[in-house]
Amino acid sequence: MKLVVATLSFLFLISCAVEDDYVQFQIEQVFSDNLEQTIKVDIIYVQSSVASNQSFYNLDETAFIQNLNGSFFHRYGIGLEIGDIQTLINDELYDLRDNSGEESRVFLAQTQDLYNKNRMNIYIIKRSHTDAIAGIGKNQRALITDEFLFTATAPHEIGHALGLFHSTIEGNVMSKIRPHMRKDFTNAQVDQMKNAMKKIEEF
Ligand SMILES: [Zn+2]
Repeated sequence: MKLVVATLSFLFLISCAVEDDYVQFQIEQVFSDNLEQTIKVDIIYVQSSVASNQSFYNLDETAFIQNLNGSFFHRYGIGLEIGDIQTLINDELYDLRDNSGEESRVFLAQTQDLYNKNRMNIYIIKRSHTDAIAGIGKNQRALITDEFLFTATAPHEIGHALGLFHSTIEGNVMSKIRPHMRKDFTNAQVDQMKNAMKKIEEF
């Protein structure tokens, strides 16, 4: 037990920003029937070809999407709807942490010919201990490792996937400071996400 604790604190030291996001957010859930823009979300589980590597983590996809809507998106008139649920066997993506510094490039290259262009595509790596990788988002694709699905990393990467850059405003979903404080989008960010969603829908 002592050994485990020592290993964990070492990890936290080298990736404190990520560790900070392990604190689950406490945001009042707000749901709306009056949404201006909705988007279908496909969920793609990334698994290893080596059967013994499989994580036992089981995600309730409906609860995941509902949590995102209630905590972050419905209050801005944006709705995520669950689309198809798939599995992708891809060892390069599963072992993404081996590509240190190149994670984003590798993720986009590995999914370039696969993703659904009419949807938001959320890739979930079904493994724990991914070290510093919490998520990546760009070009209507987000990749989230399984420990971060119910933290503010999920809406942050979805924001990137819809074209948003980082914000310096503390408490903004796109901020890099104090990840567990993230909860708001600005009006400009909301407009930008709605426009990106419209384009995806019309593709
Ligand atoms: Zn970011």
